[in-house]
Amino acid sequence: GEKRAENGGGGVEMPEIRYTKLFINGSFVDAVSGKTFETRDPRTGDAIASIAEGDKEDVDLAVRAAREAFDHGKWPRMSGSERGKIMTKYADLLEQHAEELTKLESLDAGKLVVVTRAVDIGASVGTLRYFAGAADKIHGETLKMSRQFQGHTLREPMGVAGLIIPWNFPSIMFFTKVAPALAAGCTMVVKPAEQTPLSALYVAHLAKQAGVPDGVINVVTGFGPTAGAAIASHMDVDMVSFTGSTAVGRLVMEASARSNLKPVSLELGGKSPLIIFDDADVDMAVDLAIGANFFNKGEACVAASRVYLQEGIYDRFEKKLADSLKNWVVGDPFDPRVNQGPQVDKAQYERVLSYIEHGKREGATVLTGGKPCGQKGYYIDPTVFTDVKDDMIIAKEEIFGPVMCLMKFRTVEEVIAKANDTRYGLAAGVVTKDIDVANRMTRSIRAGVVWVNCYFAMDADCPFGGRKMSGYGKDASMHALDKFLAVKSVVTPVYDSPW
Ligand code: ADP
Repeated sequence: GEKRAENGGGGVEMPEIRYTKLFINGSFVDAVSGKTFETRDPRTGDAIASIAEGDKEDVDLAVRAAREAFDHGKWPRMSGSERGKIMTKYADLLEQHAEELTKLESLDAGKLVVVTRAVDIGASVGTLRYFAGAADKIHGETLKMSRQFQGHTLREPMGVAGLIIPWNFPSIMFFTKVAPALAAGCTMVVKPAEQTPLSALYVAHLAKQAGVPDGVINVVTGFGPTAGAAIASHMDVDMVSFTGSTAVGRLVMEASARSNLKPVSLELGGKSPLIIFDDADVDMAVDLAIGANFFNKGEACVAASRVYLQEGIYDRFEKKLADSLKNWVVGDPFDPRVNQGPQVDKAQYERVLSYIEHGKREGATVLTGGKPCGQKGYYIDPTVFTDVKDDMIIAKEEIFGPVMCLMKFRTVEEVIAKANDTRYGLAAGVVTKDIDVANRMTRSIRAGVVWVNCYFAMDADCPFGGRKMSGYGKDASMHALDKFLAVKSVVTPVYDSPW
């Protein structure tokens, strides 16, 4: 990896930071405590802005506003098409402000500007439009039941939703949770990650411009154990949708169990396998593996950090991979020539480096990288370990950084067993030209998504969410809308029915 971080943005104009306070009931307000925290530029570690530090009192205020907007406000009482119209306007505004939002997001999270614009903001707009279209298509069923009784089901908004989101895809995650909640007629309290609060506050002001009534979307910035925990344990929050680590997912569920038993949906960690068979095109397989591991600097829950290669392709793949990574550029995410930006913050950077040291100590071989990159900021060289054994920590635990592990297999049976030998079940990839092998693999792997000859292909219409300790409940698709709707059965007697 070559580093260009010292260019300091390559002449790109930095965005103005206008929104730094909590967004409650349609206004930007200070935290009750008056406290703030710093969000930092991962290129340097320098502070970018002071952000209001919300805590329990602020969550209480936000929940009260959301409750009022749900119990007495317009949003849940509008027709679905009216909600859809406002959401469409929201999507238009997002598109109009894409430039500024892209820069804020890249600055806060160290994400490549080019990718953020095309992927993150593009998918955010797409998600809003998808659920805008769903808002007037919420139907129940009619039930014949018996000669004496008939029924129908109503699908009603769940109420006040708590939406706790991570820092790796701040805008996509915001809209992945907010858009179906809006379509369903819920009101909400959103807790962005403390590492990346800027885009959520920015898009909150656009919601207001679009005509989303005050109190429907509230954003409380702050830390997990304080603001996040207050949402998870709140007696007046009706459900929580969480994306983050498995450890915190467990805390959120415990908090629900100890408070009001609110339903919780969890999109958690992974250790996803990418399985490459002998018949694969080696160039294509290498490109896929690089994308699947180093996209967004490996800060992706679906990262394919376990790459299983069939014996016959292993050596060719390894050589080609090492060659390809010679042209891989780590550096300033504002520079369009760069492939990989900095890790989001110091804690993540140190965590990833400690896993790399673990890998070395456990006896894995460093094919590329294996060290930090540059003197300043949170850059790490794309790291490939070979000679990785199934029981090494780097083969078992989620690293959440640019670290790929190569492992060898012989038969289909063997690799199915290895792929499923994990506590996680989020995603998997299969690379082969043999349709029979592909079909067998897709049926055998226990994961929320299996990508065949592709990776990372996602869409607002494609259900997303894992099994096992990767969590449960789906984001995206009409399944996501279902989470925000309660089903009510209504039954009436029928007299003198002919049948
Ligand atoms: P990571 O480990 O990748 O930073 P986390 O799971 O810690 O991911 O964070 C995801 C989100 O969960 C963030 O918004 C964070 O503030 C929040 N969070 C962290 N701890 C808690 C907690 N105890 N209760 C609720 N939310 C939390």
